Amino acid sequence: MKITWFGHSCFVLDGSKRVVIDPFVPEGKVPEDVDIVAVTHGHGDHFGDTLSFSSAPVVAVNEIARWLQSKGMTAEGMNIGGTIEVEGVRFTMTPALHSSWLEASEEHGFYGGVAAGFVIRMDGHVIYHAGDTGLFSDMNLIRELYHPDIAILPIGGRFTMGPDEALMAAEFVGAGTVIPMHYNTFPPIEQDADRFKKMLERTTDIRVQILSPGETIEI
Ligand code: ZN
Repeated sequence: MKITWFGHSCFVLDGSKRVVIDPFVPEGKVPEDVDIVAVTHGHGDHFGDTLSFSSAPVVAVNEIARWLQSKGMTAEGMNIGGTIEVEGVRFTMTPALHSSWLEASEEHGFYGGVAAGFVIRMDGHVIYHAGDTGLFSDMNLIRELYHPDIAILPIGGRFTMGPDEALMAAEFVGAGTVIPMHYNTFPPIEQDADRFKKMLERTTDIRVQILSPGETIEI
């Protein structure tokens, strides 16, 4: 499987299916030709260009899925703790300590249900994308239940956990590789990812893979 970071929280998992998570791309084009879109919550820097995927099904919390369906889109609604299979890819929705306002138009928005993360299982790999979240100790359960290979964790602070909390999150989740996200997109979430990498690798066996926007790794 290939994993590409498009910046901020947008990743594409490219295996037997092509899955985009949180299709907001700060610079450049949103990935096309995807089979499935997964949206962690309603904030614009995650929901992004979801409406542009007219043919791919969208996996999202029920409130967002229902709104997408009312717009004529194909959406698979689910909720925290549940698992669904879409085109052979399994999505488990995990908690996220965060909020979720969805800007339905320039004039108004609505509360988009709870914010979430995903454990995504495809081709024998287990990827945990935490979404936007603060640290919570039940990340231990994600390790015990799903054994992720890769943990994609926010480190930007202010709106999510910062690097200090993400160090503990990485240990809770227990994946061998951590990819940091949701930092340096805007001035309020500027962070030193190299320092985070050094600190985590000095104290644990977990490796930190810092990506540049557009960069792909193969696992
Ligand atoms: Zn958010």
